[in-house]
Amino acid sequence: MIDFNLPYLTGDEEKHIFEAVRNGKISGNGKHTNLCQEFFENRYGFKKALLTTSCTDALEMSALLSNLKVDDEVIVPSYTFVSSALAFVRERAKIVFADSLPDHPNVDTSRLEALITSRTKVIVVVHYAGVACDMDVVMDLAKRYNLIVVEDAAQAIDSTYKGKPLGSIGHFGTFSFHETKNIQCGEGGLLAINDEKYSHRAEIIWEKGTNRAEFFRGEVNKYGWVDIGSSFLPSEITSAYLYAQLLHINEIQSKRKELWKRYFDLLKVLDEEGVLTLPEVPSYATNNAHMFFIITKGIEERSRLISHLRKNGIHAVFHYLALHNSEYYLEKHDDRELPNSLIFENSLLRLPLFNDLKLDQVDFICESIKEFYRG
Ligand SMILES: *Cc1c(COP(=O)(O)O)cnc(C)c1O
Repeated sequence: MIDFNLPYLTGDEEKHIFEAVRNGKISGNGKHTNLCQEFFENRYGFKKALLTTSCTDALEMSALLSNLKVDDEVIVPSYTFVSSALAFVRERAKIVFADSLPDHPNVDTSRLEALITSRTKVIVVVHYAGVACDMDVVMDLAKRYNLIVVEDAAQAIDSTYKGKPLGSIGHFGTFSFHETKNIQCGEGGLLAINDEKYSHRAEIIWEKGTNRAEFFRGEVNKYGWVDIGSSFLPSEITSAYLYAQLLHINEIQSKRKELWKRYFDLLKVLDEEGVLTLPEVPSYATNNAHMFFIITKGIEERSRLISHLRKNGIHAVFHYLALHNSEYYLEKHDDRELPNSLIFENSLLRLPLFNDLKLDQVDFICESIKEFYRG
């Protein structure tokens, strides 16, 4: 069986975890947390980076920092993971769902302005598959309407928009190190803060509403409860594991890109024959090889293809049931139709892609897909 995903181990994780254990301090905001945060600030130019226990946590922090009032509106793509919307729903915001582009799951930025009202406070964009949304359009709207932009960059580590690292463009960027992502520590995340006016409060919210971080830097002589917050920081064990992965990011990325390119080269002919559609990367974006997906002709064909691959021992998966149609949000949605998000819900198929996948396994998967379409 070829798995859909296997979390990659660099081999250095144990060494760093043992070091954290020997240091004797394994609660959060210690040596390895700082090493990771410095890595992100230096490599991607984030003004401030705070490790969290998940991308969901980082999104929740961005929602708290946005200071929403009941019924403030937050624009979120419908075709995304639950957390992009959930974090704001918890702050009692009203979610205004946006549709995808016709030819890519990313949000159609040309149709965002029509969704803005006097109650709009935040726009959340998701860089699907690590490919950038058109951020100039988003940032221009944010400036003109005084909105906060959150980049859900869960899938977008080490990818850029017009040369700028994703997650560094909006007010906030959120990353995931869940074991299904390019860089992983089981469960983990990061909040990137790019507007310094939020840095101070972010650190307080991160540490249960206390000014503990300032206290440990010796900036105040006692610490106490000063604001709202939660326990968003991971333990040093998690950070040590993550740090080992970060030290290998270049080789991880080049291996993933090699696998991605093999898929693309082998399946291009089916795209040319018009039987399926391959992902296109706009000229303003890079591809971080987070995932390889194909667009089939619809749900019936996709189900048959999944069974065909399964018979050949290949585990391919589809995802995202459009959030505007979800059991939880359907009643609250404003009835606008979002046809493109439904196209991707019904026709997108993700193929296995992980570091230990072999090139000849990719060859075999592509052969199986060709066999399905050509008989
Ligand atoms: C994976 C993912 C998340 C959630 O990440 P966690 O670290 O599991 O909380 C959020 N948004 C998107 C787009 C994702 O792909």
